[in-house]
Amino acid sequence: MNNIEALRSMLSNAKQCLVTAHVNPDGDAVGASMAWWSYLKAAYPEMEVRVAFPNRCPEFLSWIEGVNQAIIYTDAKDGKEATQRYLKDCDLICCLDFNALSRLDSMSEALTDHSAPRVLIDHHQRPADEFNLVFSDISMSSTSEFIYRIVDALGGKTLLSKSAAEALYVGLITDTGSFSFGVNTPATFRMAADLMELGIDKNEIASRVYDSYSEKRMRLLGYCLQSKMRVFPKRRAAYIALSRSELDEFCFQPGDSEGFVNFPLSIKKVALSALFMEASDKTHIRVSLRSKGNSLSVNELARKYFNGGGHFNASGGKYFGALKDCEAYFEKILKDEF
Ligand code: 5GP
Ligand code: MN
Repeated sequence: MNNIEALRSMLSNAKQCLVTAHVNPDGDAVGASMAWWSYLKAAYPEMEVRVAFPNRCPEFLSWIEGVNQAIIYTDAKDGKEATQRYLKDCDLICCLDFNALSRLDSMSEALTDHSAPRVLIDHHQRPADEFNLVFSDISMSSTSEFIYRIVDALGGKTLLSKSAAEALYVGLITDTGSFSFGVNTPATFRMAADLMELGIDKNEIASRVYDSYSEKRMRLLGYCLQSKMRVFPKRRAAYIALSRSELDEFCFQPGDSEGFVNFPLSIKKVALSALFMEASDKTHIRVSLRSKGNSLSVNELARKYFNGGGHFNASGGKYFGALKDCEAYFEKILKDEF
């Protein structure tokens, strides 16, 4: 693997390392970060390693080892200060599962001018020119798979604990819809087999990830599909738009909308799906986009229209304006582009 010796030397020389991942951390961001944290602690016992996320992890990931020790930058009590305190002596920053510092949201202010070298490990398209050492490969199913390959290339597979293997498996299944997309090579299945050999209970993990929602979340999903999903058969598209008051009605928690945007794609004639949700501070609309097949890049769509990006079939971004205007804007895009 290219760059692996450069990484080895950076790791050997570092005394204090921060691991971080994108805002609204998902299964892959959290899985990759916690596995990398666990590996680094085992391989470099002299080095201090901590994870800091820009904001809270969803509840269904809280069982992953180490998550509750991670710093949450936007934690009202001490998040920003704790991050800054830790960063003061940091001489290495590992950036996982994102391609530009802006994906750290407000936490980017703490990293942008920091003198420590930044290592990127990511599987999104077009990494920004903000990193000192870049591991970027869009053929990887997940950043978790990338972490596994890097650990292997460093000769560290035997240092992966069962908890690290569990974290990696979470990243693998959440970024591939349990192996139904994004798996580009047989090597991904071999990795899953290796994780099983490390002792993970894959049924138990699937249950923790997929069967841990609240009743309110299920009701919100029902409401979305029954009353909120708008389908545009001629454009082969659909969207769901949710206001803050609707989300509040269902006691919305981070992670509750996980997977919502995929549902409309189960309709045979729908190839493009969007989810719009008013942000909690009402400063913008969070946008999620999904497509199926290999002719419609929602990464391009997110870049062009929603200040965002992501993958070919899964991307996200922001709309700055009112929810109603966002809906009209999207309908206009559908008319113009499809
Ligand atoms: P989700 O819709 O699940 O939030 O995100 C889907 C994909 O799009 C993920 O790979 C995520 O990293 C990417 N993504 C989501 N929001 C943004 C954004 O605001 N900017 C960029 N560049 N990528 C995003
Ligand atoms: Mn990912």
